[in-house]
Amino acid sequence: MFKDRHIIVIGSGIGGLTAGALLSAEGALVTVLEAQSFPGGCAATFRRNACRFDAGATVGCGFHSGGPMDELGRKLGIDWPIEAERVAWQYRHGELRLDLSRSRAEILERFPHSRPFWLEQDRLARLLWRLASGGLSWPPERPGDLAGLLRKGVAGLPGSARLLQFASKTALEWLAVHQLEGDSEFVRFIDAQLLISAQTTSPYANALTAAIALDLPTSGAWHVKGGMGSIAELLAKSIEENGGSVLYRKRVIRINSVRKEVIGVETGDGSAYASDMVVANLTHESLAELVGSPSAGSLLKRGTPSEWSAFMLYLVMDPSLFTLPGSRHLQITGQSGELGEGNSIFVSFSLPGESCIAPEGLYAVTVSTHTRPGPWFAASRRSREEYLKLKSAYEERVLDLMASQLPGAREAVQWLEAGTPVTWQRYTGRADGYVGGYPQTSLFDVRGPATGFDNMFLVGDSIFPGQSLPGVTTGARRVVEMVRRVKSLGGGQ
Ligand SMILES: Cc1cc2nc3c(=O)[nH]c(=O)nc-3n(C[C@H](O)[C@H](O)[C@H](O)COP(=O)(O)OP(=O)(O)OC[C@H]3O[C@@H](n4cnc5c(N)ncnc54)[C@H](O)[C@@H]3O)c2cc1C
Repeated sequence: MFKDRHIIVIGSGIGGLTAGALLSAEGALVTVLEAQSFPGGCAATFRRNACRFDAGATVGCGFHSGGPMDELGRKLGIDWPIEAERVAWQYRHGELRLDLSRSRAEILERFPHSRPFWLEQDRLARLLWRLASGGLSWPPERPGDLAGLLRKGVAGLPGSARLLQFASKTALEWLAVHQLEGDSEFVRFIDAQLLISAQTTSPYANALTAAIALDLPTSGAWHVKGGMGSIAELLAKSIEENGGSVLYRKRVIRINSVRKEVIGVETGDGSAYASDMVVANLTHESLAELVGSPSAGSLLKRGTPSEWSAFMLYLVMDPSLFTLPGSRHLQITGQSGELGEGNSIFVSFSLPGESCIAPEGLYAVTVSTHTRPGPWFAASRRSREEYLKLKSAYEERVLDLMASQLPGAREAVQWLEAGTPVTWQRYTGRADGYVGGYPQTSLFDVRGPATGFDNMFLVGDSIFPGQSLPGVTTGARRVVEMVRRVKSLGGGQ
């Protein structure tokens, strides 16, 4: 139906590439304009010091049978280069060590009284994954969306009415139903999981989004061969094979419109591209900057604002100097205090012998911790020295926590580079370097793909259902549905 229709995708993150690949597979003439020299954004793999490092995302999820990545691969004919991990990641807190696997055996052994909670979580997650399969029309943009969701949910999935009683509960209230809210070790474990996959902790996280977030290790984790960036590279290749193009070093600096219709975009190198439709793989704030006022106002008025960026360490390590954990990913939390800000870290090691990633005998390691952007930008405004001081304080804090669980890890570091919210802002173009999506506190105050323009939609982790490969892919599939309905493209909206 899209034959000869020009669709511009701004940004080659997973959301933009998914939408672009699906649209070009349906015959649209897709041009992706990417500011960087490689695809993937937060889920890219970049080259530095003879190694390939995952920039942000390191754990492949959503590839389980019928999961969003599995469905996407089937639709596009892509055979993902993945290998199932035996253990998704290992959680360490003081003496406590838990392998998070499909069976949850270690969690149930350590916290046997939590079994009824996990049984309920499992039932909710199954329903939610099935509701999300094939795309999810939330938040509703037109009456038909709500009707469709009700048809798919209440009528199509037995038991889905149960979801309603959780829709307005927090995760902590849900834990309280199972008398688990007073078990501080269990709550800290749950909070650590929620922070990395729902961007908030149990007092604030919505119970339904918590049910899906807590399901990630159970539905499986995958190692992506060649680094996470392989996913973006394959999506870009699919666009090109269908006649589209992915152009790098093309930063979009302006979106031109007439009334509620976008007519084209301009890039920093002086080029201009006409378009019938624009898919923007941007945050609302970044899009608002490109459309200018007064259109920007309506983009910014709704939705839970982002809270977090990430402090990163990219390391080359000599594994002969410390004992490797039994799993490729390690989540470490400090003894007490707020999570994030170097007091909880996620460490991902390259696979031994993966020669395309690190030289023989060495590991490429990505470490991340949640951090709030404000102090970083304040320090950098004060002086470069202040900013560098803050950066080296975080380096020390993160390395200390890492070495507390991996003795010798400090000595094993052969090379190191740090990334801060300032780096994320420069690299992804996201205002204030907010990454990882919005805190999933409410199902009712989420942002959808609509932009106020009839022929431009948002994709990426700032729209529902938010962060992660399966999250942005699910959001992008909905955008493709919406593009199909646009009248000027021959659709029926
Ligand atoms: C530290 C960290 C760890 C994570 N870990 C995981 C994990 O283990 N597993 C998981 O599934 N998810 C993880 N995530 C989340 C996941 O990476 C993101 O939710 C997802 O990749 C975001 O995709 P996106 O579509 O929003 O695009 P983005 O990643 O935001 O990419 C947007 C792209 O658009 C480009 N762009 C921006 N502005 C312009 C412009 N004006 N013109 C042209 N191009 C532009 C950028 O350069 C970028 O390439 C993690 C995220 C972070 C930050």
